[in-house]
Amino acid sequence: MKILLVEDEPEIRTVVQKFLEAERYLVETAENYQLGLEKIISYEYDCILLDIMLPDGNGMDLLREIKNSHKKDPVIILSANDSVDDKVNGLEVGADDYLAKPFHLAELLARVKSVIRRKYQDGENTIQYKNIVVFPDIRKVKIDDVELVLNRKEYDLLYYFIINPDKTLQKTMLAEAIWGDYIDQADSLDFIYSQIKNLRKKLKQNNSQADFQAVYGIGYKFL
Ligand code: CA
Repeated sequence: MKILLVEDEPEIRTVVQKFLEAERYLVETAENYQLGLEKIISYEYDCILLDIMLPDGNGMDLLREIKNSHKKDPVIILSANDSVDDKVNGLEVGADDYLAKPFHLAELLARVKSVIRRKYQDGENTIQYKNIVVFPDIRKVKIDDVELVLNRKEYDLLYYFIINPDKTLQKTMLAEAIWGDYIDQADSLDFIYSQIKNLRKKLKQNNSQADFQAVYGIGYKFL
């Protein structure tokens, strides 16, 4: 899961980034309005953490930008302004949640998990595809009740396919979602092929009813 943190205060940026990375999220950061806007236009995120007071603009305008461009990325506002008007205004413009600074990291994590759960899991704690069950909060996968042991990227890949079943996922889309925003500058995306090959082997060994299908020149489907 990839998170964008738009925050100008270096200390908060570093602390939040390190904390979420330790929780196995991929964290991209933007330190001002302009960089945040560029990232929001160019990439997709599973959750955007948005500071309001930025040196060169207002986070609420970034939120309007996200909504006007019909992007579905969930947004949590992080604001120093703990006023009811600000909260109501943020939620009315379309933020999914609002957290007043200073906040506890544990609460931030709970809210991130909650918006992701609503977005991808219909609010449920588990997600199932055929005989595969994923438990995102603890990053575990079971097939027919037997745990499938996966490395970090294998888990991330499998989860991404399971929340997008039957869709053809482009290699660039997969790379950006799982390896990060600047992967489009990589020389080759062959590493995706090798991860899928390993994952496929593990799924087969564990009697998975779903398998990857290569879509020539484009990417993969999970059926
Ligand atoms: Ca700020």
